[in-house]
Amino acid sequence: MSPNTPVSVLTIAGSDSGGGAGIQADLKAFAAHRVHGLSAIAALTAQNTRGVTAVHVPPIAFLQAQIEACFDDFDVHAVKLGMLANAEVIHCVADALEKHHPTHVVLDPVMVSTSGARLLEGSALDALRSRLLPLATLVTPNTPEAELLVGRRIGNGEDAEQAAAALLDMGAGAVLLKGGHLLEGSRVIDRFFDTVSSETFIHARLSVDAHGTGCTLASAIAAQLCNGLSLANACEAGIDYVARGLRHGYTPGRSDVLVLDHF
Ligand code: PLP
Repeated sequence: MSPNTPVSVLTIAGSDSGGGAGIQADLKAFAAHRVHGLSAIAALTAQNTRGVTAVHVPPIAFLQAQIEACFDDFDVHAVKLGMLANAEVIHCVADALEKHHPTHVVLDPVMVSTSGARLLEGSALDALRSRLLPLATLVTPNTPEAELLVGRRIGNGEDAEQAAAALLDMGAGAVLLKGGHLLEGSRVIDRFFDTVSSETFIHARLSVDAHGTGCTLASAIAAQLCNGLSLANACEAGIDYVARGLRHGYTPGRSDVLVLDHF
């Protein structure tokens, strides 16, 4: 290994042919944070800024081969999990994490895209809860995802606290509950919880229709954990990174949907 070799981070997620979300966003965020990005593609989406037109899940043995190829050769410091499509994929990923136990696992529990496409089968929710939450250093649900995981509505900050406590009880090491879907005036409040502390991160709501923010945030956090930041500081830095990317975002397709700038 050369002396200037950056640490390696692996994303196991879905690919977005439109380049705004998924694996493509993850690798851009990794590069911007000066870590070496590895990828194992759990699902392929035919997608652009207007929506998802098809999904293909490759054979499980092929996903396993991609993951093993990465762990065989690279010193994988962190794993970021995104779109995992179904329960079989989740079991394959959980088996690999239990075998290789990377230091950091950032789980973005992707379920439905902003454009409304289902990215995780409903029947996979149990597997996500029982196999992946206990392996996650940090889970980063938005409000609808957290509601599905804990099985109850989240309407305010107190509900958010209870939902985070339930996710910690299910085995997650820490929770970043993203507040973008909650109506809290002109502000977005993201709430961080681990077993001993909590923090809130508040920023102005940008009135833009954007794509790939969740993927980018989880990847930026995974990279910052590798760069030595604490969990709460990595979350704060990741949130700032996404806000900056949005401010400098652009609309590469024919819709008004914004894609983040990563540099
Ligand atoms: N497509 C893929 C492959 C993803 O992994 C994600 C991640 O959440 C999305 C789409 C959703 O992106 P967004 O909801 O930001 O449009």
